Amino acid sequence: MLTAQQAEQFILNLVQPLTAAQDTEIVNLPDAIARILAAPVTSSLDFPHWDNSAMDGYAVRYEDVQTASAQQPLTLDLVEEIPAGYQPQKQVQPGQAARIFTGAVMPTGADTVIMQEQTQREGDRVSILAAPTPQQFVRQRGAYAKAGTPLLPAGLKLQAAEIAILAAAQCAQVQVLRRPRVAILSTGDELVSIDRPLQPGQIVDSNRYALAALVAQAGCEPVVLGIIPDQPEALRRAIAQAMATADVILSSGGVSVGDYDYVDQILAELGATLHIRSVAVKPGKPLTVATFQPSSTHPPTHSSTPASPTSPSPLLYFGLPGNPVSALVTFWRFVQPALRKLSGVAAPWHPVYVLATTRQPLKADSQRESYIWGRLENVNGRYEFAVAGGSQTSGNLINLAGTNGLAVVPLGDTAIAAGDCVQVLPMK
Ligand code: AMP
Ligand code: MG
Repeated sequence: MLTAQQAEQFILNLVQPLTAAQDTEIVNLPDAIARILAAPVTSSLDFPHWDNSAMDGYAVRYEDVQTASAQQPLTLDLVEEIPAGYQPQKQVQPGQAARIFTGAVMPTGADTVIMQEQTQREGDRVSILAAPTPQQFVRQRGAYAKAGTPLLPAGLKLQAAEIAILAAAQCAQVQVLRRPRVAILSTGDELVSIDRPLQPGQIVDSNRYALAALVAQAGCEPVVLGIIPDQPEALRRAIAQAMATADVILSSGGVSVGDYDYVDQILAELGATLHIRSVAVKPGKPLTVATFQPSSTHPPTHSSTPASPTSPSPLLYFGLPGNPVSALVTFWRFVQPALRKLSGVAAPWHPVYVLATTRQPLKADSQRESYIWGRLENVNGRYEFAVAGGSQTSGNLINLAGTNGLAVVPLGDTAIAAGDCVQVLPMK
C-alpha cells in the first residue's frame, strides 16, 4: 500500500497541466477573478507613464532650493498650476516653481517636489522652508515597469492586484485557461436526492454537494451526474457518460471491499489503468486512482480544439470512499493538488501545511497517516489546533461544522501530546 506522500507524488505525476495552446479562453476583465493567466502579459506602456508628483506641493529645480531652511527660506515665482490630468504648459526656469498636485505630470525644467507642508505661499510666490533631497516625491517614468517587460507571468492566479494591473495596462479582455471539468458521481443504493422523503435505510447524497463545492472552490467546473445505484450496468453507463464530458471524474462510494463495491471492476472493464486502490491514510484508506488514455475517451465536448496528439493528458478517475468525512479528507489531501496542477496554475501544487501547537492530545493509527479535524486558531501570532468535539469517525459529518484544518499525525506515530507541534492541513 502506498504512503500518502507516495500517492500524492504519483497522482501529481499522472497529471498534465492544461496548455495555453489548447485550453485558452478569452474573458472580460471583471470575469477574470480567480482565473489562471494563459499567457504572459506585456504592456507597451511605461509605469508610471510619465514623471509625476507623489505629493500635493510645488515642482521645483533642486539646484534652486538645496540650501533652503526654515531660518533662510528661498522664494520662487509660480509659473502655473498643474492639477492631475493636465499637460503642463510652461517650462520651469531658474528661480521658478509650479504648483502641482498628486499624480500630476512634472513640468519640464523641474526635477523635485516640495510638499506643501514645507512651504509658505504668498500670492504668486512660494517660500521653500526645508532642503529637499534630489528628485524627492517624483515618480519617475518607467520606474515600476518599462514598456515591453513582462508584467504578469503565465500560470498566475488572478486576484484583485493582478486585475488592477491588467486594467492599468488597458487589457479589457484576458486570455485565461479554461476551467477543468470535474464530473461527480455518487454511488450507492441507499442514496436519495435532497428533495425525496427518506425511506428506512436511506440517506441523502450529501457527498455530491460537498464535492461540488470543493471542485468549485478549486477553480474547476463541477458536472454533477447524480446518484448511481450499485449495479454494474448503471455504473458503467454513468462512467462512460462522465468520460465523454470531463477532464476528471470523482465518484464517491463503492471502492471498498463490500459485495456491492463495483467501481474498480467497471473501471477495468472500461479500459482504465488502475494505479492506486488504497493508501495508508485514516480516514480514507480505500481510494482508487485510475486513468483513461485520451485514445479511449472522447475529447471534452466543451473544448474548441481537439486534444494534442503530442501531449496526451489522461482522463483522471478518483474513486473516493463513500463515508462523508473520508470523501472530504481524500479530496483535500489528494484531489486538490491534482486539480491545482491540472488547472495550469504555476507550481507548487503540493498542500501547504501550517505548524501549530495542539491543545489536546492527538491519537493515531501508526500504520497510516492520520487526519484529525478541528480548528486552527491564530493566538498572538501563533497557530493552535483544537480538536473538533464529538466523535472523530469518518461517518460523522456533523462535527466537521466550523472546522478549518486537518491535523496530520505521521505514519509510525501513535500520538502527539498536548502542547506539542503538529502539521495542519488548512481546509480551504
Ligand atoms: P461505501 O464507500 O460505498 O461503502 O460507503 C461508505 C459509507 O458512506 C456508507 O455508510 C454510505 O452510506 C456512505 N455514503 C456513500 N455515499 C454517500 C454519499 N454520496 N453521501 C453521503 N453518504 C454516503
Ligand atoms: Mg456503497
